[in-house]
Amino acid sequence: MSEVKRTCNRCGTFWYVDTDRLRMLKGRMKTEQNIGVMGIIGSLLGNSQATRNLHQAANRQDINRLELEAVSSCPRCRSSDFQ
Ligand SMILES: [Zn+2]
Repeated sequence: MSEVKRTCNRCGTFWYVDTDRLRMLKGRMKTEQNIGVMGIIGSLLGNSQATRNLHQAANRQDINRLELEAVSSCPRCRSSDFQ
C-alpha cells in the first residue's frame, strides 16, 4: 500500500491518497469504457443483451467516476487545485 500526501492550494487542507486504489479505479474506468463501447456497437446492431450491458457499464462508470472524483479533490472544499 502506497500513499501520497496532497495539499490543497485553496484552503490548505492536506489528505492522503492511496495510489494503488487510484490506479485500480482508473483501470476499472477503462474496462467499463471498453464494455460501454462494445455495448454501443451491439445495441446499434439490435442486440438487447448488449444494450443491457451498456446501461450497466454506464452505471458502474458513474460510480467509479464519483469515487475517482472523491479521491482526487480536496475533502473540504472539493477543489482539484492541489499539489
Ligand atoms: Zn481545499
